[in-house]
Amino acid sequence: MIGQQARTRTSSPARWMKAAERAVVEGIQIRQLAGSGQWVATSGSDAAAAYEVEVTGNVAPGCTCLAGLNDDPVCKHRAAFFLLIGALNLTPEPEPSAPAAPVVCFRCRGRAAGCPVCAGLGVAALTAQAAALRVATAA
Ligand SMILES: [Zn+2]
Ligand SMILES: [Zn+2]
Repeated sequence: MIGQQARTRTSSPARWMKAAERAVVEGIQIRQLAGSGQWVATSGSDAAAAYEVEVTGNVAPGCTCLAGLNDDPVCKHRAAFFLLIGALNLTPEPEPSAPAAPVVCFRCRGRAAGCPVCAGLGVAALTAQAAALRVATAA
């Protein structure tokens, strides 16, 4: 399969997020037919059309839209399915901000007992050191 890597259409988290955004913006609706179990997604551009979405378990390997027919692994119809089952989430939790990790004191390098920056601890939070450095520069 190495010879097929030139294909530009790839499945990436970024492309799925874009597809999911378009699905929401265009109001794509995803439904499962009660009789056959077939999944269908409404077209974003044609209000009268719907596409068959091929679903196996929690994955959707195929779609009968133009992108799907062109072997694109990503399309907004399948993204709508992933949104429905919660596999895609457009409002992810914000990244927790990294705690201010103490670093070795810039002034005493961890050696001076009476150091005003780290109070003799040898380490101080980077924000505290930056504040001390600003004061030292201004003086
Ligand atoms: Zn599609
Ligand atoms: Zn110090």
